[in-house]
Amino acid sequence: MLTIDGAMGEGGGQIIRTSLALSLVTGEPVEIRNIRAGRPRPGLRRQHLTAVTAAGRLSEAEVEGAQLGSRRLRFQPGRVKPGSYRFDVGTAGSTTLVLQTVLPALLTAGGPSQLVLEGGTHNPMAPPFEFLAKTYLPLIARLGPRVEAVLERPGFYPAGGGRLRVAVTPARQLGRLELVRRGPLIARRGRVLLARLPEHIARRECSTLAAHSGWEPKCFVTELVRDSPGPGNVVMIEIESETVTEVFTAFGRKGVPAEQVAAEVWSEASRYLQAEVPVGPHLADQLMLPLAIGAHQGSGGGQYRTLELTSHSRTHLELLDWFLQVDIEVESPQRDDVCVRIGPRR
Ligand code: ATP
Repeated sequence: MLTIDGAMGEGGGQIIRTSLALSLVTGEPVEIRNIRAGRPRPGLRRQHLTAVTAAGRLSEAEVEGAQLGSRRLRFQPGRVKPGSYRFDVGTAGSTTLVLQTVLPALLTAGGPSQLVLEGGTHNPMAPPFEFLAKTYLPLIARLGPRVEAVLERPGFYPAGGGRLRVAVTPARQLGRLELVRRGPLIARRGRVLLARLPEHIARRECSTLAAHSGWEPKCFVTELVRDSPGPGNVVMIEIESETVTEVFTAFGRKGVPAEQVAAEVWSEASRYLQAEVPVGPHLADQLMLPLAIGAHQGSGGGQYRTLELTSHSRTHLELLDWFLQVDIEVESPQRDDVCVRIGPRR
């Protein structure tokens, strides 16, 4: 049984999800103590608890400590069973973060899986659906497995009520990924999602993006979301290059002017554009897990260039180094030019 200190580094929910994902992949039981010790309200929240329950159902695991607020969890997985599952976060908790927990094991499972995930599909501090569909899953396809995600109904924080359908066609093992150059720019877009809110918000966001970027008006679109149970406003910038599509996101919230929301997302996208690396900060932290699993299996791993590593990414690397027998190297010739290499242990 591996014992993980949930207070390490960032001390957040990622430690739980990655530990569970790796426990499912390796079959190694895990105990996590001090869960989310670095957060103002420590312990398991609804989204984390759904991830625990989902991982437990997938593998008929023996689980102790799976309660809201719990700071200690013991998880002993059985065999991972691919198939059809429905996981409901119940609140607006992020469906894509629940997927982060169960997807790695399903990528190399013995058969296909179909998942329905209900809850939030566009949450602050989590991958929005578009990032999953346009950025992350096409890169997973380059490792071998095919994963298709369909947004059946968007769910925004705090009302939730969204639904995501995911179909996984596994591969026997994960292959390598090399993502060291971005290649020529193919398209750039600004997209505003607006649900049950006045349309002037979207107009102001689009004109702020246009003013900052200098891109022509046809680069900006607004989508009025009619089937969302609650209000929502998301501003996204998509940068499609030859080797990767990156999606940057900011969320409209009460008391924050639309202009400021648009400026936040532009600041992330322009830093990425200037640095000329292919991988943005969130993708950097999410690629670590599949590359490390591939390297552990002996078939995969790889390397990518990204911006300065976030504390989230550094914690993630530390956890992976600890859990798996893989070699991890980080080289940083400049602040916003970092190369991460993950390979089988030599
Ligand atoms: P906690 O409340 O403990 O911080 P959490 O479970 O809500 O935990 P984090 O541990 O902060 O979440 O992890 C959030 C995950 O969501 C990370 O994998 C991060 O890369 C991803 N993420 C956050 N924002 C975005 C975004 N805008 N685009 C893509 N991915 C994102």
